[in-house]
Amino acid sequence: MAQNDNNMKYVNEYRDPELGKKLLERIRQRSKKTARLMEFCGGHTVAIFKHGLRQLLPPNIEMLSGPGCPVCVTAAADLDRAIALGKIPGVIITSFGDMVRVPGSRTSLQKAKAEGADVRIVYSSQDALMIARENPQKKVVFIGIGFETTAPTIAASVLQAEKENLKNYSVLSLHKITPPITKTILDLGEVRLNGIICPGHVSAITGAKAWDFIAKDYGIACAVSGFEPVDILMAVNCLVEQIETGAPKVEVPYGRGVKPEGNVTALKLMDTVFETGAADWRGIGIVPASGLKIRKSFERFDAGKQFDIKVSPAKEPKGCNCGEDLRDVNTPDDCKLFRHNCTPEHPVGPCMVSSEGSCATYYEYGER
Ligand code: SF4
Repeated sequence: MAQNDNNMKYVNEYRDPELGKKLLERIRQRSKKTARLMEFCGGHTVAIFKHGLRQLLPPNIEMLSGPGCPVCVTAAADLDRAIALGKIPGVIITSFGDMVRVPGSRTSLQKAKAEGADVRIVYSSQDALMIARENPQKKVVFIGIGFETTAPTIAASVLQAEKENLKNYSVLSLHKITPPITKTILDLGEVRLNGIICPGHVSAITGAKAWDFIAKDYGIACAVSGFEPVDILMAVNCLVEQIETGAPKVEVPYGRGVKPEGNVTALKLMDTVFETGAADWRGIGIVPASGLKIRKSFERFDAGKQFDIKVSPAKEPKGCNCGEDLRDVNTPDDCKLFRHNCTPEHPVGPCMVSSEGSCATYYEYGER
């Protein structure tokens, strides 16, 4: 079977059980060595659990969940800043829905809203722009979270605000970029990996070359995957082949989504508005050049500069292991609160709030 998807056109083909069975058979026959594989992306974790792929793979292949959930990796300190912004009179906070429920050090945006803050859930930064246009007497702040996938759309909103001379729109940029954190996790050495399933949506923006360093510098196999079960099995098949032959490289079985050069237009948008800077990752801390900050030339749209935000030192939810989960040194099952005191209805940490969080995924699809 080819390791690319050039012959397949329709999404149904990527859900074809017969094709999945053939791939599994090939993986079972070919895979002899121990293979510890990490899927970076929370979307992959959900797909792997939803389709029961962990149980179908041979026992020498171990799948680990990575830090690829933007809500989960947002540090409590940054969330506290967003909540503090919401308490400033005349400010409307706009945010993606999951962020609103994540507990900060002392409260959440949802609780702040119940106490009178004007917090509105939006589906895109374009919705936030609309709210800014409709409320010229208020200051509208968009809480910008996400990886390379989301950042171009937020950059576009800043350029649109500039074009319209909107004076009441700004972004609290908590965006993060993925290769530096992957490098940090590998350098920490807490988890030994033989292969990485690289994120498909991020790679659609960055291009697969962003992952070259993993194979070149760390000798770890790489495959960029889509999100259907056959996509993931194709990626595992690539990784197994690389591991068995001892020839790590970056392969792209997700050819329908990822071009070698990435999305040049989106990259240009990002580069116009943002520059790289240090970012605070939950469970990991400050990582240099792993975040996107608004450039000085656009600082009037930078909520971090436009408002004097003061917060007390941050603290993690008591008993929550999200930080360890995000570094792959624990699984949700290791947390004493999992299923008992922490559920999707009453989440203690962000990994139980986000639909792509590892705890929420284990809760929804894991073995009971
Ligand atoms: Fe945190 Fe809840 Fe996950 Fe435990 S189960 S690590 S408390 S989110």
